[in-house]
Amino acid sequence: MKLQKKISREIYNQCELCPRRCGIDRTKQHGFCGMGALITAAKADLHKWEEPCISYKNGAGTVFFSGCGLHCVFCQNNVISNENYGASLTNEKLADVFLALQNRGADNIELVTPTHFIPDIIEALDKVKHRLTIPIVYNSGGYELKETIDSLDGYIDVYLPDLKYYSSEISARYSSAPDYFRYASEAIIAMTEQAGELKWNSDGGLIKGTIIRHLVLPSCRHDSIRIMEWIAENTTTDEVLVSIMNQYTPFDHIPEEYPELRRRVTKMEYNSVVKRAAELGLNGFTQEKSSASEKYVPDFDLKGIE
Ligand code: SF4
Repeated sequence: MKLQKKISREIYNQCELCPRRCGIDRTKQHGFCGMGALITAAKADLHKWEEPCISYKNGAGTVFFSGCGLHCVFCQNNVISNENYGASLTNEKLADVFLALQNRGADNIELVTPTHFIPDIIEALDKVKHRLTIPIVYNSGGYELKETIDSLDGYIDVYLPDLKYYSSEISARYSSAPDYFRYASEAIIAMTEQAGELKWNSDGGLIKGTIIRHLVLPSCRHDSIRIMEWIAENTTTDEVLVSIMNQYTPFDHIPEEYPELRRRVTKMEYNSVVKRAAELGLNGFTQEKSSASEKYVPDFDLKGIE
């Protein structure tokens, strides 16, 4: 394990946890992520719809954090990521939430969109890490600073980042982040170096390594193929699995100025990305078309939080 400077809650006073680098005092105002200095989350529950090696027995022990540093216009978790729904909790309470999930039989602790609360998550893990026997999974949109990822060394077992866009035009249009690929690609390399080779337990659950997720978007298959090529050129199948997602859903909340997002991905679009990934020798997961449904959006009801 490399020794890294631990990120403390002091960073909230002038927040630069993610590439937005707002530099604001989150004890007094909210950043681009929509969050102040209090941990806010919308649900902590067993979640059965992740990749088979993440939800393999009873379900991932998922904590859905509120707020997001990306604000993608098509987000399926819009109510928590863009509308900031959730309840606040202390890091002591968050530590109890982790233990409660483990006691319910969770296959792992899965931190969903955790970046803006990393200092508190580290404090919570420090309180209970000696009692947690299940892996810690870090599930993020991929828009991360390398130094923030480096600070997690020794805390995270499995990284589950998105790699959403290659093109800066597309990332600017859908997430106001023209620099998305530059930051996400650097962060993903840091994640793979930290998590190392893929390792499984006897139940088929992933206990070490990285899964890169990519959601195929309407009219963006060439961008998706470029992402598959980057993954093949920059990672190894010993360390990385790829999850090619077919669950894009044209939600009602997508603004009118994005008419191209108001349809589902076609079979041809999705299959062309899967075909290229196979040609490149990538390993991982594909998804049935039936997963493109609003029924797979979690019901954010504060379960496990309050
Ligand atoms: S975590 Fe939030 S406040 Fe901090 S830099 Fe990122 S968007 Fe800004």
